[in-house]
Amino acid sequence: MIPFLNLQALHAPHHEAYHLRLQHILDQGQFILGEEVTRFEKSFAEFCGAPYAIGVGNGLDAITLTLRGYQLLGKLQPGDHVLVPANTFIASIIGIREAGMVPVLVEPDPETYNLSTKDLEKYLNSKVRAIMVVHLYGQLAPMEELIAFAEKLQLLLLEDAAQGHGLPKVGNHTQTYSFYPGKNLGALGDAGAVVTHEVELYQVIKQLRNYGSDQKYHNELPGVNSRLDPLQAAFLSVRLPFVNPENEQRRAIAKRYTAEINHPLIQTPSIADYNRHVFHLYVVRCAQRDALQQYLFEKGIETLIHYPIPPHKQGAFPELHHLPLSFTEQLHREVLSLPMSPLLTDEEVSYIIQTLNAF
Ligand SMILES: *Cc1c(COP(=O)(O)O)cnc(C)c1O
Repeated sequence: MIPFLNLQALHAPHHEAYHLRLQHILDQGQFILGEEVTRFEKSFAEFCGAPYAIGVGNGLDAITLTLRGYQLLGKLQPGDHVLVPANTFIASIIGIREAGMVPVLVEPDPETYNLSTKDLEKYLNSKVRAIMVVHLYGQLAPMEELIAFAEKLQLLLLEDAAQGHGLPKVGNHTQTYSFYPGKNLGALGDAGAVVTHEVELYQVIKQLRNYGSDQKYHNELPGVNSRLDPLQAAFLSVRLPFVNPENEQRRAIAKRYTAEINHPLIQTPSIADYNRHVFHLYVVRCAQRDALQQYLFEKGIETLIHYPIPPHKQGAFPELHHLPLSFTEQLHREVLSLPMSPLLTDEEVSYIIQTLNAF
């Protein structure tokens, strides 16, 4: 079986480095925050081209705490509406709600499945104050046009970059990251970060993640407990230098998929610029998606569906079920994610392509 992504194999070369860091933490006894967290925050901020990063518990908290941070700074208010792509992973939408705000679900661009400014105006209302851009599947959304749109309408723009580790930075907007194990930079458990150019936001989120406290037992803000675990920070520091080289390997695989998959019923993704895509996922579309998935499974190829049910049709959100999002719904019926990992061999990629073309 060709696995979708073999995490054990991905981490195997790092076992010795992980053990050394674990031993160091055991020797130091610093089990909450401390130097491992600070070190990773510094190097991740640098990796992202920003001055500040705050390590938090997961990607969802990164979103919620960013929005709450902006509220505490007076830049957003509870009840404000936030434009967000309707076909994102549900965390983008839950994060907005957790912060007491209202997600406005936007149909994505039919070519890239990302937000674009085409038709974006029709989702505006007097309460819209922000745009949450999601770089879905690892493809940079059209930031230049989205930034111009946001500036014209004085909307705050933020990036859910949970699928976009290593993307080029366009603009200096606050980004939220997840280090869920399957992401391009994944921890050995839950972890996340906020990356920002704004020192005030940095200071507020640093407090919010730690009971609203800067100084032990002095709680200045209504905070939560969402600290990046130092063990995860240490493991992430080991993995960080490999992200860019692995993204190059992902690109090489994606280029082969795009060049060599030529089945009339299978649509490969539209990629304007390979340097603006980190191929967290390589997602094809097929009207007979379920049959295709079953066929590939029988041929020993594991695929996944990102995602089978759109957020507005989830049981958690009955009040969103009526939304007219027909393209989003069609995507959820047709998308299929092919194996994508830096460990795929040329032979495996060839086999996947041949098998797809013989569907
Ligand atoms: C993974 C992901 C998240 C949330 O990450 P967690 O760490 O699982 O909370 C948020 N947004 C997007 C787009 C994601 O893919």
